[in-house]
Amino acid sequence: MRRILAGLLGPDIPAHLRDDFITLAACHMRGQALLVFAGFILSLPLVVLGASPETAPSIAFGLPVIILILAVTGLIVLRKPLDLAAGVTEARRVIASVWRLCLLIAIIGSIWCLGSWASAPAESKLYYPAIMALGALTLAYCLTAVRSVALTTLLITMVPIAIALASTGEVMNLVLAGSQIIAVGFQVFLINRHQNLLFAMTQQQHESAQQARRDPLTDLANRRALMEHFKAHAALGSHIRLMVVDIDRFKAINDRHGHDVGDEVLCAFAELLRIHVRGGICAARLGGEEFALLATAEALDPAIALQLLGEIRGAYMPHGEQITASIGVADGIVTDPADWNGLYGKADRALYRAKNDGRNRVRSHKAEGEADRVGDREPARSRHG
Ligand code: GH3
Ligand code: MG
Ligand code: MG
Repeated sequence: MRRILAGLLGPDIPAHLRDDFITLAACHMRGQALLVFAGFILSLPLVVLGASPETAPSIAFGLPVIILILAVTGLIVLRKPLDLAAGVTEARRVIASVWRLCLLIAIIGSIWCLGSWASAPAESKLYYPAIMALGALTLAYCLTAVRSVALTTLLITMVPIAIALASTGEVMNLVLAGSQIIAVGFQVFLINRHQNLLFAMTQQQHESAQQARRDPLTDLANRRALMEHFKAHAALGSHIRLMVVDIDRFKAINDRHGHDVGDEVLCAFAELLRIHVRGGICAARLGGEEFALLATAEALDPAIALQLLGEIRGAYMPHGEQITASIGVADGIVTDPADWNGLYGKADRALYRAKNDGRNRVRSHKAEGEADRVGDREPARSRHG
């Protein structure tokens, strides 16, 4: 019973996946709706040809012309592929446009069917519900990417004519109405299955995107994620601070205790950095035993570097000993993603001085009187010592 109910209700989308789900659904819907609108235009001559001679011209010809106008509008609105860079707003706009057009087409189609059915002679009455059912089921199937649109159009097109048929009490009408209701039930399940599929795809995409931004060993952000943070700051022209944190004499730990223990030390070290992930501070593993903290200069107080060194010194690591680290700090106003090289170069040179001055200390590029702006894009020095 619960499975049947879940099938009817469709997936419950968690808030953090909603925007991705809407964007994916809008992409699917655009492709499907283009087919729907083209299909309407192609089948309109049949609708006009099939009009009952007794039907009022406004219904027989007027309504198909309105559907033609709506379908052409749909093709024009959807002619450009979805601009994914515009985010969920663009996706919502596409869904809303299709929803409005299909809602109008469904209402007009329903009026056409009821009007034709009511005025048709007894021997051809059954054609109209049959034509309507074919159109309605195809329409709903093509709109499965967005459940609200598919279900609304399905209800508007199928329910009124099924009620009209059933209300006559005639056996063949009841049979047709019953068949239509069964077909609607199947369609609802198909719509929800499609929704579950889209949801699974969204989840997979989200997980892959998350994994691509995480360091597999420590589960901290990786260099790619750090660069995304940096680009976001650069787009705002923020004054940011970078701390490059490098474990002292890490190679000796590997040599004495083995690579696996070295890995455990890296993970434990990452946990010490993770404590500082708050208020927009990003902690990342840049590679090897080199880590970084990045945030606006306001959020990443220089005092955090000294505090962190104390925490590192005070922690017993998996190999049963304490370790130290050296930190190079740089800050500046960034306005371009390429400013990374300049900022990293300064922090790296400061780190080099911290190592040369005896390790287990913080050095800032400011101490050397370097400029505040970081647009000079100097290459980072190479450190082998
Ligand atoms: P310094 O104080 O100058 O930074 O000396 P160091 O020994 O920490 O630095 P060095 O660059 O000489 O050595 C870094 C070592 O880190 C060498 C490399 O084998 C080790 N390493 C890099 N990545 C990993 C990893 O993922 N796991 C382990 N266990 N070791 C790694
Ligand atoms: Mg090191
Ligand atoms: Mg290093």
